[in-house]
Amino acid sequence: DAASSEVVDEPKDKLLDGLLSAGFDENTCLSRYQSVLYRRHSSPHKPSSYLQSRLRKYEDLHKQCGPYTESYNKTVEKLKSGQHSGTTECNYVIWIASSGLGNKILTLASAFLYALLTNRVLLVDRGKDVGDLFCEPFPDMSWLLPLDFPLKQYNKFNKQSPESYGNMLKRNAISTATNTLPPFLYLHLNHDYDARDKLFFCDQDQSLFQKIPWLIMKSNEYFVPSLFLMPSFEQELTNLFPSKVTVFHHLGRYLFHPSNAVWGLITRYYGAYLANADERVGIQIRTFEPGNQPFQHVMDQVVACFLQEKLLPEVVNPQESILTTSENQKSKAVLITSLNSGYFDKIRNMYWEKPTVTGEMIGVYQPSHEEVQQTDNNIHDRKAWAEIYLLSLSDVLITSTQSTFGYVAQSLGSLKPWILYKPKNHTTPNPPCHRAISMEPCFHAPPFYDCKAKTWADTGAVVPHVRHCEDVIWGVKLV
Ligand code: GDP
Repeated sequence: DAASSEVVDEPKDKLLDGLLSAGFDENTCLSRYQSVLYRRHSSPHKPSSYLQSRLRKYEDLHKQCGPYTESYNKTVEKLKSGQHSGTTECNYVIWIASSGLGNKILTLASAFLYALLTNRVLLVDRGKDVGDLFCEPFPDMSWLLPLDFPLKQYNKFNKQSPESYGNMLKRNAISTATNTLPPFLYLHLNHDYDARDKLFFCDQDQSLFQKIPWLIMKSNEYFVPSLFLMPSFEQELTNLFPSKVTVFHHLGRYLFHPSNAVWGLITRYYGAYLANADERVGIQIRTFEPGNQPFQHVMDQVVACFLQEKLLPEVVNPQESILTTSENQKSKAVLITSLNSGYFDKIRNMYWEKPTVTGEMIGVYQPSHEEVQQTDNNIHDRKAWAEIYLLSLSDVLITSTQSTFGYVAQSLGSLKPWILYKPKNHTTPNPPCHRAISMEPCFHAPPFYDCKAKTWADTGAVVPHVRHCEDVIWGVKLV
């Protein structure tokens, strides 16, 4: 038992309450069935039986339509003809990698949910390292788009591309009235999308997409919350997720199994530094301010947060006599993730130089300090994924405002983090942090549009379960 130091009495279900299907080869992806050993408790959130059955059905569809199947080959042929009418046996959504790893994971989950809702098959543009970071999530059939996919430069599509839905609308090149439609459409759902691209979130436009076999989607956003505002998906989403705050928690644990290389990074680190602690505290420090790190005001903010919220103990003042620590030898392991090592140095020294008032032993660890973001660099991204995952194994979590890196960790770990407010003018905010209202990630760039009334609408105030985020006021999240 890899995590024997914390064996608890509850039985551990390696299929995560029916979320995962049995029958995968364990050795090709150790994390898939071992992940349960590294979590202190089974998830308090059980996937609905309907979600389980839809996932199994999806897996069948994926097997029937995946790369190089007869249906796939036939549908690929449509691309070459340039025009399309009638129906096809299999329809696809191709996800294109964009932005940092946290963004990628969140949008891939969004694209998968969209595929589930529209009976499409999800194929993944592998980019530089998707295949290196994650195991195959579906049995017997790859989710990676074949390298010989015939559409030229599909992964270079952007806001300006004439193939985008928004630009086609602009040129009046597409409408529900026409019988012949293109065999593919590019959906630009990046944060910089415009009003026409955003019509993706309207039922009427969705009904047109139903007739198009290939949808190519680029996004760096967790767009799930806005799907919950679409009448055509409402009932299905309620059936899939009776508890709405569990969408990424379930889909994330279903889809994203660290590859064996990344699992090695995770388990070695966990075993060496975290496994034996009585409690694990994760602290993710990500700053977006210009200037030389570490920032003193951020350092002060992090310490104020964990002291005020009593997540870690105070240290003894120098004037006071040193307490004997024999009574309470509990230990806490603090896992810090940051591009910079300065915060770690200071917090480690704080707990080395002075004893804690409670007598607890505080170990402070940071796996890497990569200094700068290096998206699509193989080893860098492996470490990023390992650190996200290690954070998700925390008992309590502090995250940085607006960071998808933190969102993935919190949702995978079923944690409502304390979010460090965004500092203004290089000053420590007061209060330094606040508790998230749900573990769901925030959609940073939602549409503000009422499809029926064709007017502006505050989409964070339409239904009680889609609200503005704590850390991005114009964003929306499931609560
Ligand atoms: P976001 O920009 O905070 O929303 O998160 P992303 O994951 O999308 O992009 C940030 C990227 O910067 C990560 O994917 C990593 O490549 C890198 N990065 C940021 N913070 C850390 C960290 O604490 N540890 C590591 N290893 N990489 C980080």
